[in-house]
Amino acid sequence: MVRNRHTSLPVRVAGVTIGGQAPIVVQSMTNTDTAEVESTARQVQQLAAAGSELVRITVNTAAAAAAVPHIGERLQQLRCTVPLIGDFHFNGHKLLQEHPACAEVLAKYRINPGNVGRGSKRDPQFAEMIEIACRNNKPVRIGVNWGSLDQDLLLRLMDENSRKSEPSSAQEVMRDAIVRSALDSAERAVELGLPRDRIVLSAKVSAVQDLVAVYTELASRCTFPLHLGLTEAGMGSKGIVASAAAMAILLQQGIGDTIRVSLTPEPDGDRTREVIVAQELLQTMGLRSFTPLVTACPGCGRTTSTYFQTLADRIQRHLRERMPGWRSVYDGVEDMTVAVMGCVVNGPGESKRANIGISLPGTGERPVAPVYEDGAKTVTLKGERIAEEFQDLVEQYVARTYTRRVQS
Ligand code: SF4
Repeated sequence: MVRNRHTSLPVRVAGVTIGGQAPIVVQSMTNTDTAEVESTARQVQQLAAAGSELVRITVNTAAAAAAVPHIGERLQQLRCTVPLIGDFHFNGHKLLQEHPACAEVLAKYRINPGNVGRGSKRDPQFAEMIEIACRNNKPVRIGVNWGSLDQDLLLRLMDENSRKSEPSSAQEVMRDAIVRSALDSAERAVELGLPRDRIVLSAKVSAVQDLVAVYTELASRCTFPLHLGLTEAGMGSKGIVASAAAMAILLQQGIGDTIRVSLTPEPDGDRTREVIVAQELLQTMGLRSFTPLVTACPGCGRTTSTYFQTLADRIQRHLRERMPGWRSVYDGVEDMTVAVMGCVVNGPGESKRANIGISLPGTGERPVAPVYEDGAKTVTLKGERIAEEFQDLVEQYVARTYTRRVQS
């Protein structure tokens, strides 16, 4: 049985709702040292400006916990209101207890049940964190990760499995342990007094088929909203492809209420890339719209210049830069599609299907570029300033087509 996304219990995280009828929420995580207030606040602001609706920061030391209220203040100065989530491992109970201002400023706590303590310490330390969440009216994500799976639980399940007449595979036992760790921890939190509508679950693994199996099982067994993500997805195209492959299968089945794409940035790479990839995943699947998308052909031997690739890139950047301003003025502009095509083969057809499109000349074609708006050819561009003129036409199309929002 597959759960319909809309049957999950909505959880409020400051001003953002995860689950229920709410749109799928995009979130991200910083990679700065949380103890460094300025750099962390700046990165949170960048992630939020890119469209991250929740931002998680690691809270791993006393210095990091002490910095959290100052990060909150700095974000207020920067007029950034994105809810901050604290990521806790090993010492979360201690940090939250000893830094009440940190516990207060954070909008949600992420608790990893595999990392709250070993043996006899695990239950009381988990309980301590849940009690602090209850006291502060904070929601919690029970975030299982297979790299830090509760080893006592895994060993117990392995042991039980070995006594079966037909034992399951080690992979099946591992998947079962991940699901049970999430569900049992959530029920334990409820017993400790945390309302059900303050719990989000995640069960991250790093292999696509494991992720699909684990979340499909989890979705069939609970109504907690689910945070989707492939952990340690990796760098570059591998990380993007693996995350998209796994999450698309689940999202298509209605599984997943919030997503994070865990990309490893290139050295000095832009952390906001994970936000853009998450948005593009949801938008290309038709689940949410964030920024007008450019349809561009891959190019081939029919066009020897890279002009149309440069133009497509330039237009996509322009749309992304203009979007924050447009969003506050024009209703529905995020649904706009723009085509930039390389030659006459598919150019006119694809351009006609877009809201606005341009078909550039291929090799040997007349050096003219017809522009189509809402399916009809409106103008033909030529000469050195095709890029600038097309950009102006896009601006005029937006102003003419989308309803102006009433400014309050
Ligand atoms: S539209 Fe033209 S240039 Fe682009 S891929 Fe197709 S044939 Fe090649």
